[in-house]
Amino acid sequence: MIYDCDLVRGRGESMKAPDREADEAFMREALVEARKAADKGEVPVGAVLVCDERIVGRGRNRREAAQDPVAHAEILAIRQGARHLGSWRLEDCSLYVTLEPCAMCAGALVNGRVRRLVYGATDPKAGFCGSLGDLVQDPRLNHRLEVESGVLAAESAELLRGFFAELRSGERKTSKQRGRSGSLKTV
Ligand SMILES: [Zn+2]
Repeated sequence: MIYDCDLVRGRGESMKAPDREADEAFMREALVEARKAADKGEVPVGAVLVCDERIVGRGRNRREAAQDPVAHAEILAIRQGARHLGSWRLEDCSLYVTLEPCAMCAGALVNGRVRRLVYGATDPKAGFCGSLGDLVQDPRLNHRLEVESGVLAAESAELLRGFFAELRSGERKTSKQRGRSGSLKTV
């Protein structure tokens, strides 16, 4: 027997298909974070953690400002969300991030039991959610995420392209480059 998808869906929330409009709305919030990162001279990547259609955590790349190799947007959004919810188990949460997560962040998503990952642009050089590997859907691990990719990917990729183009042209400097002239003399 063939079920009518709409009818089946109408019976319960759990059968609800992923909502593209809602996904784009939350991705726009992640893009807001990414732009804030660019304004601070950080590689523009932004993330929001969503639970029951509410944003419970926000993060943007802060690696340069914090001089912290783990200060990725996803990690900061997950941490803030877990603090807000008072739980490390984020089973009812979705993470929206403008760029495909790296191996570290993919691992954090699995460890946090995040239910769903929605990302924008793919990252062929560091992405571990389909590009270089797939940590979030590895059947050997004890948790797997639902994954949606390509949401507002063009906006996200354009933001990154613009940032690196400005870096190359010298219009924008990372904090490392800004500090280089002064700090090197003292080494
Ligand atoms: Zn990462």
